[in-house]
Amino acid sequence: MFLTTGSVAGAQLVITDRVGGVSSGRYDSLNLGDHVGDDHDAVGQNRHRVAAALDPSAGPLALMRQVHGAVVAVIDGPGDAGQPVARRPVQAPEADAMVSTARGLALAVLVADCVPVLFASAEPEVIAVAHAGRRGVQEGVVAATVAAMQCAGARPASIQTRVGPAICGRCYEVSPQVQAEVVRTVPEARSTTRAGTPGLDIRAGVRAQLEACGVGSVEMDPHCTAEHGALYSYRRDGVTGRFAGIVWLPQGTDAANA
Ligand SMILES: [Zn+2]
Repeated sequence: MFLTTGSVAGAQLVITDRVGGVSSGRYDSLNLGDHVGDDHDAVGQNRHRVAAALDPSAGPLALMRQVHGAVVAVIDGPGDAGQPVARRPVQAPEADAMVSTARGLALAVLVADCVPVLFASAEPEVIAVAHAGRRGVQEGVVAATVAAMQCAGARPASIQTRVGPAICGRCYEVSPQVQAEVVRTVPEARSTTRAGTPGLDIRAGVRAQLEACGVGSVEMDPHCTAEHGALYSYRRDGVTGRFAGIVWLPQGTDAANA
């Protein structure tokens, strides 16, 4: 269920994989995307399973309706903290990034080749997720997310980031025109595929954009979605599911409150 568990700047994070859900066929089995043609009940059950498997301090999942843009939604909180974990997700804004200062709210970004970026600052406590694909990188979703975290009080140097699994520059072939268009904005995204053709390394572009924003650290997940069978890959499979990058500020435990 979880490819990666860890922490960033005191916030907790997980990257899900495609194992341990109820979806079948091309969505087998832990598909978390409800916009890709899968059965809605199955997706709901999968989301419930993930929320229930997170540490209880994570709280409910907050999802976005992602549109490959650079809009950042500021999420104040789950609205009714204290509800059991794995209740319905909080209502999804149309955005490609979310920022929150709320504890006990698990911000989730859904991907299958695009880059999931997880952000956290410890003082003050601010977290964020961003969905950075080819268009998001061109539109500037990374810088927009850092700017929104600054509005919430975080200094860029205090922001630590984790760049999650995505399609690599050896696998992501594009036309010469598309490559030229992207590298005009982000030269670092230029790559050559295994076949020797023009490619894009979107993760390298994301890293360059994060560094240009002056964030304190950039940690890169090495997994390539197109090469890793336990991850969904749109380029490899076409119609397929979505996995998630999730980050949260742990809610106080009963013991801590006692
Ligand atoms: Zn690859």
